[in-house]
Amino acid sequence: MTIRFDAVPPLDPKVAAFVGGSHAMLVGNAWLPAASGKTLDVVDPSNGRIIAAVPAGDSADVDLAVQAARKAIDGPWSKMVPAERARLIWKLADLIDANVDMLATLNSYESGKPIGDSRNGEVPFTAETFRYYAGWATKINGETMTINAPGDWHAYTRREPVGVVGQIIPWNFPLSMLAWKVAPALAAGCTIVLKPAEQTPLGALYFGKLVQDAGFPEGVVNILTGFGETVGAAMSAHPDIDKVAFTGSTEVGRLIARAATGNLKKVSLELGGKAPTIVLGDADIDMAVAGASSAAFFNAGQSCGAGTRFFVHKKIYDKVMSGIAERAEKLKLGAGLDPATELGPVVSQQQMERITRLISEGRSDGAEIVTGGARAGHVGYFVKPTVISRTRPDMSVIREEIFGPVACAMPFDDDDLDKLAKDANDTEYGLAASIWTNNLGAAHRLAAKIKSGTVWVNCHNFNDVTMPFGGFKQSGWGRELGEQALQLYTETKTVAIRLP
Ligand code: NAD
Repeated sequence: MTIRFDAVPPLDPKVAAFVGGSHAMLVGNAWLPAASGKTLDVVDPSNGRIIAAVPAGDSADVDLAVQAARKAIDGPWSKMVPAERARLIWKLADLIDANVDMLATLNSYESGKPIGDSRNGEVPFTAETFRYYAGWATKINGETMTINAPGDWHAYTRREPVGVVGQIIPWNFPLSMLAWKVAPALAAGCTIVLKPAEQTPLGALYFGKLVQDAGFPEGVVNILTGFGETVGAAMSAHPDIDKVAFTGSTEVGRLIARAATGNLKKVSLELGGKAPTIVLGDADIDMAVAGASSAAFFNAGQSCGAGTRFFVHKKIYDKVMSGIAERAEKLKLGAGLDPATELGPVVSQQQMERITRLISEGRSDGAEIVTGGARAGHVGYFVKPTVISRTRPDMSVIREEIFGPVACAMPFDDDDLDKLAKDANDTEYGLAASIWTNNLGAAHRLAAKIKSGTVWVNCHNFNDVTMPFGGFKQSGWGRELGEQALQLYTETKTVAIRLP
């Protein structure tokens, strides 16, 4: 398996100037270095080279950003009518579209994902998310209640912004994760302190520039770069942040929930997953092979909904497994910025080491490595797309979130849907699942039995801005996207009036 390194086009001069320029954090309307003066390096995961340095903020910067966000929500932002908020959010979406090349290049440069996925997928989805929530800004309404007590009453509810929100996002979808959080919070009338992941701050900082260009009042969106243990922890514990929204590992989700207890801020969490991918005996094999491969290898497997535990009916197991292995072997590995790349590097050395360690554990636990099974090459953070067969439910490859291009499979040999659902549900996670079948009855029955926030049928990793996304069990609290995300960013106030 060769990795192409020679086909990365030179950076557009505008992108090169931004990446090579000096970077600062957006606080109020100002671009500031970290109060401590410290910086952190941003690395190109395709070769391990440092491409930029951004401020490494800490609690002093969090204080300043929270003050700016508080001032904005107590001032101009709360006075703005919803239609004006909607217009600004829509304008931001237009600016994202107008800057698709810049945003897509930054996104792929710092995360390693294929440029086509950024340009044709993630960036347009980011703009679409802002447009969808621009529409909601004018439609957040309370209700009136018919009261049971004697006498004359008028009772109603108001939906009010929850206040200053802290949003902590991961590196796997740097821009769409930003949009899933920022867009509904703006629509609801909240102000924001956003922390991108330390691996992928550049796209978020450029987004900050677009926020200013759109004309948002100062302090509505503040962007702090830095490490989770410093900026993220200070945000989670901050007494003047009313709500924290997080996407990332279940382990950090627990830390955030604990840190939030001081002022009992509201918490929403979108955490890890270990999605079962269930291929029933009657499935369309070609469709299932293509879909299951994409479930495992899309974004180099760095997706919380990635298909990782494959349950394939015994009678088609060999065919499906050889089909997935064949596709894995044909994937073109290369830098995210090479337009021909189908599988980029994983985001960091740490992730590469974690993935290869888990693969080695699978091997020593007795699983069969059908293809892949190791680092690819010696430069950058590439992992060979890997298919692991003959797994058992107790193996770490089946229990732990691998977050790499690794499909782990086991056959099942009867049509007992209860047993199948029980095996699929044998995980602490409950984010997503997919079922591949032509049997409508089996699909609906299994969908009802699977304990996860999303069940896909004959598709995987399909997200639409209208569809709520989030986890059962230890995959999280709350739902992003759709109308439900607005509940994360609003409080309901009941007003009861006794009529004289
Ligand atoms: P992580 O959970 O540590 O990082 C995600 C975000 O949380 C980053 O912005 C990080 O700076 C911040 N953070 C880290 N520690 C924090 C703390 N103590 N308080 C507040 N914020 C903190 O994820 P990672 O270390 O980059 O990746 C480790 C594993 O997490 C991956 O292997 C994968 O299993 C999982 N992960 C899941 C998702 C997801 O979408 N569910 C995304 C990224 C990583």
